[in-house]
Order: sequence, then C-alpha cells, then structure tokens
Amino acid sequence: MTKKPNELTIVEAAAALRARSLTVRELWDACYAAAQEKNPELNAFLEIFPADERAIEAAQIRVDTDKESAPLLCGIPLAIKDNILIEGHIASAASKMLGNYRATYDATVIKKLKEQNALFVGRTNMDEFAMGSSTEHSAYGVTKNPHDTSRVPGGSSGGSAAAVAAHLCIAALGTDTGGSIRQPAALTGLAGLKSTYGAVSRSGAIALGSSLDQIGPLAKTVEDARILYEAIRGADPLDSTTITDGLYPAREVPENLRIGVPRHLLGEGVDSGVLAALDATLKRLTEAGHTLVDIELPTSSHALASYYVIMPAEASTNLARLDGIRYGHAPRGKTLLDDYVLSRTEGFGEETRRRILLGTFVLSSGYIDAYYRKADAARAVLRREYNDAFQKVDVIAFPTTLSPAFKFGEKGDPLSLYLEDIFTVTANLTGMPAISVPMGTVERDGKKLPVGIHFTAPHQAEEILFTIGRAVENSR
Ligand code: GLN
Repeated sequence: MTKKPNELTIVEAAAALRARSLTVRELWDACYAAAQEKNPELNAFLEIFPADERAIEAAQIRVDTDKESAPLLCGIPLAIKDNILIEGHIASAASKMLGNYRATYDATVIKKLKEQNALFVGRTNMDEFAMGSSTEHSAYGVTKNPHDTSRVPGGSSGGSAAAVAAHLCIAALGTDTGGSIRQPAALTGLAGLKSTYGAVSRSGAIALGSSLDQIGPLAKTVEDARILYEAIRGADPLDSTTITDGLYPAREVPENLRIGVPRHLLGEGVDSGVLAALDATLKRLTEAGHTLVDIELPTSSHALASYYVIMPAEASTNLARLDGIRYGHAPRGKTLLDDYVLSRTEGFGEETRRRILLGTFVLSSGYIDAYYRKADAARAVLRREYNDAFQKVDVIAFPTTLSPAFKFGEKGDPLSLYLEDIFTVTANLTGMPAISVPMGTVERDGKKLPVGIHFTAPHQAEEILFTIGRAVENSR
C-alpha cells in the first residue's frame, strides 16, 4: 500500500520532493487536511496555521533549483510545541496566563528551521508550562493518544507526539525538562531525543527548569530525529549555556556497542509487558552483535526526588516574571497586591500553582540546605555514577516508561503522575543525551499500545544514540 504524503517520513518526503513525484504544496495540503480532519477529536494542535503561500513557494523553488544541496527539511511541514516562540504567533505554553501572548521574535531553533525552508503546521498542546506527563494539565483541554483515544499521549509534549503519530505533520519539536519528549514519544510509538544540555539553544523557549530544559525532535524514525536535531543544534550567542562546537572530541562510534543494563531498576512497578518487550529488544540487539553488561546505578533511587526539588525550584523562579504587571493575564484589583494575587490565581492552573509553592518552599531560607542543596548534591553524585558506568559501557538502556499509555484521570494523584518520570529525569539532571525508540507494543483492552526503550549516552555522544536507535529499528 502506498503511503499518503502526510504519512511519509522526512527522508521519504524529501526524496519524493526531489524526484518530483510530490510537490511542496501537495505535501502541505495533505498534512493540513489531516490536521483539520483529526484535530477536533485529538486536540493535538491549539492552532493550525493557515497556509503560508510565500513559504510554500520559496521551499518549492529551493528544492527545484538546489535539489541535492537543498536541506532535507526544505518544504517539510512540522508541528511546534506551544512553548517555542514563532514570531507573530501566539505562544501560550498552554496557559491561560499567556493566552494572548504573541511572540515578537523567533526562537533560535525556529530561525534555523526557517533558514532551511521548513513549514509550520501549527502550535501543539502541552501540559501548562510543560509541567506534567499526560497533557491533562493544559488550560485548553486534553490531547488524546491516536493509538487509543481513551488514553493519554504522555506529556508534556503530548500535542506534538499525537500530531506526528496521527500523521498531521511529518515531525515535530517538543521540549524536555524531565522526559517531556521521550515519554510521549514512547507512548505514541515515536523516536524522541533529549540532546546533551547545551547542544540546542534554549533562546525563545519559554523557560521551565533552566538547568534541565532542552528543545528536541519527535519523529517517526531515528533518522528523522537525527535530521531535525542536526538542523536545530549549535552554539548560540543568545544562550550562553550552548556548547561551543568542538568542545568535546568527536567520538568514533564502535560497530558493536556495549549496552549497560541496570537490572536492579527493573523490579516491581515495571509492567510485565514492558519488561517482556525490553528483554526481546535487548536479545535482538545481542543477536545483531552488541553486548549486554550488568551495571549498577545505586543513586538512581534518589533521582526522582532530586528532580522534584530542583525542577519546581527553577520553575518558581522562572514563572515569577508572570506577575500580571509586565505581560500576560493581568486583571486589576484594588491594590498592587490584589493585582499579583488575582493574575497569578486566575492565570495559572492547579499543577503550576502546586509547583510554584513547592519551589518557593524548597528555596526558602529555612529549607534551602535541607532540600535544594541536597538535591543539587545528589545531582553531582548521579553524574559521577553515570560517568563511571561509561568507563565500561557505551550506552545505558532501560524502558522509557513503567507502563504503556494510561487512561485519562487514572493518575489523578500528583505523586503517581510524578512517578511516571522515574526513568527519564536522570538524563536531565546529568545533562546527558538520551533517546526513546519504539520497542514494540503491549496489549490493553484489545488495543496494541506502543512502548519505548530508553538509551542514555555520555555528553555529546548523540551519535551513539542514533546508532543504537537504528539498530533497534533494524532488528524489528
Ligand atoms: N513530567 C515531568 C514534569 O512534570 C517532565 C516535564 C518536562 O520534561 N517538561 O516535570
């Protein structure tokens, strides 16, 4: 069966455009029509953009004239998470607070994509300010998982994930502070990359946890994720934390990789279907020539607790600027204090308020040593432990999530939702790059639900992640 244009990967669509079996217009129309048709049910997009005729035309001209040298993303329709600024468009971070906020400049990643003549289908739904793992915490309704619409698509980049999985675009950008790209990628059957901290500029991404945030790709294949990552990475004078090219020596990626597996993390709590899929995937990788090595990462048990101290601390600081004075939702009361209280009470949703309170508490003078500084110390220990493990292995593997996609409302208790991030937060705490790659399905209520395998690599060793990711895809 031949695929519809919107069902193509970046690689396939780019080839079809160059072979002239497809035009940029046809590709755009296919994505746009699919988005119009399916969005009322899925709510993946908060806004579908009208066709940008000039951009479509410019992309077509570039593909026609440059052919081989035109960037692969030229003419490719992408979806962008609602916390990444596109000049002239609303960027609300799915919050009522920024419901009318229109970006006055392009995020660096958007600038780079525009230089490649990529197209933008729309802005996608997310958990408010990227806090959550289910896209149930958006001020604009939930997003549904295309594999089973009674279930969540994961989060916080759930809109981007659903848009790609349902073929409403070719690929998408999300942001990942504690797993928000990798976890929804796993639950919707996509490849999702959180790059090395500083590999991709954060300029123009609405800040959540500044020492943890990275923008990255959600894509149909590992190769597509690589293409998108290569397009957006690079040092940026507007983000002083970006890594200067060449800071780390380029690594040779060995053909046969040593895969570290921390079995002690795979105990109770991990769904048996997920474990079976993991074991089957690891077995196929050994058959393909890779080796498994038992490793121990004892401090992992403290990662989630440290994350849920550090992340709210940074979030509370970043969100302090939304005070009803400078910009955003700004109702007026009788006094200045009323203005603050009213705007922040009305503008922020429940989860956002919870994290602000938590963050303010752990940073308060009486508690900063007991909570924030302890969590920060744990972060250093985790980094050391992973670096030690990377002396004997090239990459570390475990499942991306404990279970397949859950039902709406199933994790209503905040702590049970926080537990969803147990496998993903460490890569953000250590700054190391990590990828989630589909590893089969687990059956629930007669539906086959995707699950993902998660790989972590040393700093700036994204290439190892792409190599092992492709190995997983090829072993299927
Ligand atoms: N689910 C995590 C949280 O709620 C991660 C969020 C993210 O990566 N943006 O904090």
